[in-house]
Amino acid sequence: MQMDGNPKRNGKSFGREEACVAIVLAAGRGARMNSDVPKQYLPLGGKPILYYALKAFQKSFVDRVVLVAAADEVEYCKKEIVERFGFHKVSRVVAGGKERYHSVWEGLQAAGECGYIFIHDGARPFVTGEILGRAYACVREYGACVVGMPVKDTIKIADADGFAGSTPKRDDVWMVQTPQVFSSGLIRSAYGALMEMETDRKALPQNIRITDDAMVVETYTEHKVKLVEGSYQNIKITTPEDLQVAECFLDREP
Ligand code: C5P
Repeated sequence: MQMDGNPKRNGKSFGREEACVAIVLAAGRGARMNSDVPKQYLPLGGKPILYYALKAFQKSFVDRVVLVAAADEVEYCKKEIVERFGFHKVSRVVAGGKERYHSVWEGLQAAGECGYIFIHDGARPFVTGEILGRAYACVREYGACVVGMPVKDTIKIADADGFAGSTPKRDDVWMVQTPQVFSSGLIRSAYGALMEMETDRKALPQNIRITDDAMVVETYTEHKVKLVEGSYQNIKITTPEDLQVAECFLDREP
């Protein structure tokens, strides 16, 4: 395995069933950024934040990218991001949905036949070829993996009244990032079950929000999801201070 995002394929080219597709999510409104412009389009080093994740996939071994944008931003994405920066691996730009998991579902419909699906937040600009390579090796072995890092701080689980309820052992706690990578059949069947439950208005208990894809696999299948090392730099731009941190990371790039 090369660690530049282009794993060797034993000298063989992959058949269709082994193709890798990335679903890059950019349909959120980013309310916590306090900006009129959705966070994935805010400038970072003079380019939209979304540019960086698409560039990482463009340079990688991934075969195709499905970009999921808000319905009224699909045309903007096609012209001002995909065409402008020459991201020819982007095969479809599709409209997302109300919640992140609705957007993933739309992306899955557009992903076509493939072996593995990498689901990535467009608001994470610092995904690298090394991370993609590690995740790819891991998903081939385990069928499901999410990148993340062990937490540095002690974590408290709050009780209903806002008091410290319990303290999980720090070594066991990871903060989870993206990409989250699955064999295509597994992620499609997990999401299929979720959407069926939602149609029947049965999804998850009211107080549980689906915030990542591993949760969907954990809840709707028996398959275990492996944790694989991402990086402490693979941050999600969520609030204004994240953007300042991101500018510092860019300044340090060679
Ligand atoms: O809201 P959150 O920060 O968890 O969003 C993570 C990623 O999911 C972002 O890149 C955002 O654009 C995307 N998203 C989406 N559709 C939604 C909500 C979020 O594509 N309805």
